[in-house]
Amino acid sequence: MAEIGVDITKAKLLLDNAELVAIPTETVYGLAANAFNVEAVLKIYEVKNRPKFNPLILHSNSLERFAEWGIVITDQLKKLADTFSPGPLTYVLPSNAAIPDIITAGQLSVAIRIPNHPLTLALLAELDYPLAAPSANPSEYVSPTSAEHVQAQLSEKIPYILDGGVCTVGVESTIIDLTQNKIRLLRLGGISKEEIELCIGEEIEDLLISDNVIAPGMMKRHYATSHPMVFEEQISTVNISPYTYAIRFQTYADYLPKENQFLLSENGNLNEAAANLFSTMRKLDAMQIDLIIAERFPAIGIGRAINDRLERATSKNLHS
Ligand code: AMP
Ligand code: MG
Repeated sequence: MAEIGVDITKAKLLLDNAELVAIPTETVYGLAANAFNVEAVLKIYEVKNRPKFNPLILHSNSLERFAEWGIVITDQLKKLADTFSPGPLTYVLPSNAAIPDIITAGQLSVAIRIPNHPLTLALLAELDYPLAAPSANPSEYVSPTSAEHVQAQLSEKIPYILDGGVCTVGVESTIIDLTQNKIRLLRLGGISKEEIELCIGEEIEDLLISDNVIAPGMMKRHYATSHPMVFEEQISTVNISPYTYAIRFQTYADYLPKENQFLLSENGNLNEAAANLFSTMRKLDAMQIDLIIAERFPAIGIGRAINDRLERATSKNLHS
């Protein structure tokens, strides 16, 4: 069993010795390893059963640290980081010889993020290397938003879980590519497209619907629950039974009894809804259910990231 605690010194000691530690962030829990130790990073791929072509994000506590590791800090990056970092925004930048191929999946670019969680920021400040830290779940499953979620799936495979409570954002970071002339949005997450455009004063390109998978997080069939899931607009194509449940935003639908419905935010707050999404999916997954019906969320701000995760979860049934 993995030990759960708040001991940063213990976490550092394990990481220094090429072991994995689960760490809290504001988005989801990460499965962390010393990014400069190939043996340690390989353990991440093994434990998650993650395909090797799926690159990892580097985490540290300041842009200055990243500069020490050869990352070039442009004015554009600085401006974005002044506004959004620490926070749920990941920057894809030109890589360099100091960054191992196992991190970048052999690409010429590398992704970096400064997570906004006090415990993890304190840990990162103690380390003389960045952490590679994908979400702490088996590949293709729903990301964990509490230490208990990590324990439920990885307990036998890792020695320590740093417990920082429940994640406040609850969906993964937004990823933007800064390697081209125009900023490109690769993954929707905790920071909305509108917020980024407001910060830099120009439109950014939306690559989310592209077939060309630049960010493997863009692959469909991700975030899947084990029960089939459909959107409400497909309701005429399914059979509703006593074992049908719904994920709803703030109000109950009339096609199911109230007991079969989970509201993500009674106050109609999209941030609260995002924070409750993955734990609700996990709750439903543990129940005797034959079908989950999901409401489509308002397509503004983090609502688009919620719809994106639900789409990936429903796409499992559509394509299989
Ligand atoms: P996660 O598994 O949530 O930590 O997300 C890692 C994701 O970051 C990957 O699946 C990619 O989508 C993205 N990513 C990491 N490195 C790069 C890179 N060099 N270029 C483009 N996307 C990247
Ligand atoms: Mg993940």
